[in-house]
Amino acid sequence: MKGKPRVVVIGLDGATFDILLPLANSGKIPHISKIINQGSWGRLESTIPPFTAAAWSTFATGQNPGQHGILSFRERDRFNYDVKGSGFVDASRLKATLWEELSAAGKTVAVINVPLTYPPRAVNGVMVTGMLTPPGASNYTYPDSIKTTLGDDYMIDVDFIRQGGQFRKEGFPPKTEMLPEIRRMSKIRAGASFRLMNERAWDFFMVVFTSTDRVSHFFWDDLETAGQDGFDEDNRENTDLLEYFVELDEAIGGIVSNAGESSNVILMSDHGFGPSPKKRAYINIWLEQVGLLSKRGQEGLLDLEFWRVRVGRNRRLKALLRWFIPEKTQSAVKSAVESVSGDIIDWNRTQAYWVPIYFQVCGVEVNVVEERREGIVSPGDEYEKVRDRIIAAVEMLVDPTTGNPMVELVARREHLYSGPYVESFPDIILVLKPEYIGAGSLAGTLLAESFNAARPGEHRKDGIFASVGPAIRKQDNLTGLKLIDLPATVLYMMEQPIPDRYDGRVLTELFDPEFLDRHPIRTYIDPSVEPPLEDTDQTFTTEEEALLEDRLRGLGYIE
Ligand SMILES: [Zn+2]
Repeated sequence: MKGKPRVVVIGLDGATFDILLPLANSGKIPHISKIINQGSWGRLESTIPPFTAAAWSTFATGQNPGQHGILSFRERDRFNYDVKGSGFVDASRLKATLWEELSAAGKTVAVINVPLTYPPRAVNGVMVTGMLTPPGASNYTYPDSIKTTLGDDYMIDVDFIRQGGQFRKEGFPPKTEMLPEIRRMSKIRAGASFRLMNERAWDFFMVVFTSTDRVSHFFWDDLETAGQDGFDEDNRENTDLLEYFVELDEAIGGIVSNAGESSNVILMSDHGFGPSPKKRAYINIWLEQVGLLSKRGQEGLLDLEFWRVRVGRNRRLKALLRWFIPEKTQSAVKSAVESVSGDIIDWNRTQAYWVPIYFQVCGVEVNVVEERREGIVSPGDEYEKVRDRIIAAVEMLVDPTTGNPMVELVARREHLYSGPYVESFPDIILVLKPEYIGAGSLAGTLLAESFNAARPGEHRKDGIFASVGPAIRKQDNLTGLKLIDLPATVLYMMEQPIPDRYDGRVLTELFDPEFLDRHPIRTYIDPSVEPPLEDTDQTFTTEEEALLEDRLRGLGYIE
């Protein structure tokens, strides 16, 4: 292969082989099949948590969350035991992204809708920002002039709540309204991608389709059944879903053929998918049971989660309360639910407590003196002893209904992450099995049912990876591929040196031995990039924060 190296990355947010492989085998998505069959593919391990913000930040920077600091959508005030968090994270803290690295090397880039790229920064080429762009923002591109290429109807995300207004009150919008909107977003994105590819010179082209994640959250039950019976065309709902995947496949085919045979192509997702958790696991109750957390005298009635758990099971009562309680109060109650459990914790007798990270991924924080408003655990030996006790107590986290352990992984934060932000992360990371979602109430028993009809699908750690092109060997079902390895691998494909600050490796197993021979891996030391430890300025206005919150609530990401 001669000539300038070119790389195309197609991100399918949340795509999983559990759906794509049956579809590929059925012959219905020939373009995706071709990438899988002619190249190398395997499951791609996401970050902990397997979640958009953490995963794409890792893709953008080549670094683990301890280096870029992003685990969740929001920052938390840990000193004051804030659970819910406020202030959305944004791209201003991600220094030296992959696209900036390539730009600095004189490569032309086009980066479309990668989550967490807002606010946009200058690149040698074009950028359209992705998820966590405030709805209605006008500065979502670089340069500004490419908006004419994108067109007036360009969509960064679907806004179920904002467009219909009434949706959330009766649960989510009917599926019949959601899927066409998701398909519309996907089609518009594909069209804009073709135009940008054709109108602009590029060496690195990347687009992320968010639609795969949205379809999987809202239609997972249908997807699973449809996958099992081979997307049976007699079933109307299956047909619509199948049409969505066919359109997506055609878009991918178009991008690959536009790129030409000399480009290396990567098809990847930031995490996978599976059924939503069916049980809420009240981690603070477990911590109370093992003597690490104490309640104030008064309990239960003051805890809004107590009411939610009970009211949630009783539809009539729920409807009645909806009738009596003013809407404003309802939403205030709702948003206070997770944080309020803090009011019934007796901090002076509590050594450790739960904080959310993402669904099944929980944090346990130690109530350290001076680090917390009413901290009681001294740093050093006492702190380590508390962490030992938490880890040892995990064997008590057994599902009483099945007798099986509820925990997939428990670790000290520094064993999972490294870098300046680790100290701001929860002291212990507790990953529950995917059938559980962590929660903080102290009102009931350890486990309660959790049922979210509107969002039957939730994230899993195994995403997808497939790559094809002149530098790539043909291999099936590779193991040991990680999302954090992709930025180094992309730079290597682009024949660029890898900065020493990258935490991942070049996935050499993908490459043709001849390519490897001709292109030894080069690295370089980059002393110039120090991640800032604190956000210096506030990117989002209060209004933008509120709009973002609405959108994420509409999508079911926050409660
Ligand atoms: Zn998602």
